Amino acid sequence: MITEIASFAQQHFPDLCRARPLDTHKGTFGTLGILAGGKNMVGAALLAARAALKQGTGRVHIGFSQENQPLEADPIQPELMLNTAGKLLGKDDITVWVAGCGMGLTPLAQNCLATLFNRYPNAPIVLDADALTLLSEHAFSLSHEKAPLVLTPHPSEAARLLGCTAADIQKDRQQAARQISAKYAAWTVLKGYQTVICTPASEITVNHSGNPGLSTAGTGDVLAGMIGACLAQGITAEQAIAGAVWLHGAAADYLVSQGIGPIGMTAGEVLEAARTVRNLI
Ligand code: AMP
Ligand code: MG
Repeated sequence: MITEIASFAQQHFPDLCRARPLDTHKGTFGTLGILAGGKNMVGAALLAARAALKQGTGRVHIGFSQENQPLEADPIQPELMLNTAGKLLGKDDITVWVAGCGMGLTPLAQNCLATLFNRYPNAPIVLDADALTLLSEHAFSLSHEKAPLVLTPHPSEAARLLGCTAADIQKDRQQAARQISAKYAAWTVLKGYQTVICTPASEITVNHSGNPGLSTAGTGDVLAGMIGACLAQGITAEQAIAGAVWLHGAAADYLVSQGIGPIGMTAGEVLEAARTVRNLI
């Protein structure tokens, strides 16, 4: 199993497989900011952040989209640095952002996104979940030509972005991904069975890793964290985005081979397995 996975990775995603140079420090591997985890949704932020940490990001910060910080530290992953979104957005050393996982649709969440676009026009940004809903409902001034903007909708989120139904999206997933990329000048990762990836220049690839074990809460948050992690480590956008999507699915396939799924596979196990697979490829 791992041999097949490794040879696929070496062929298609050599950047993911590259050994780390010896002369490095944590700054070499990026500082990721995650705006996520509104009221009662703290877990989504923790999953994205843990996934990013376990994909090798130098530093991972969470800015919870709440007035007050709901948690002093992550007891499972004390390496994560926690803050409110407001305070995190005041920092100026974040190199890549992920926003949206359990972020909520509150005015505070909307404000955070507006501040993010305004303060960080040149940083790569991954938008998932509630950030996509906010994007579909409000006009933000998005001027993101220099750095990748990555949208990771599932079919219902894609439908909101295009003002149609999820059934319409599923009728022609490649066309839907192209339309989203064109509308937002963004990379689109249209999730679900055979995730479709579309570049801002409208080039399509289809991912074939993964299995129905991934149809469980939190796996989308894990993917968002993994894409952010790969972008933060200076992997090209193409390899970071398509590579993270592939690795996320390959981790789920690896878990099935170990008897940890598809039934009952959890998002926390996927992020652990993604680390194992990354180190074995
Ligand atoms: P979300 O819907 O945001 O929770 O994201 C779910 C994640 O699991 C996405 O990366 C999907 O592509 C993946 N996923 C869910 N169901 C399947 C499936 N049947 N086959 C492959 N990947 C899946
Ligand atoms: Mg999701």
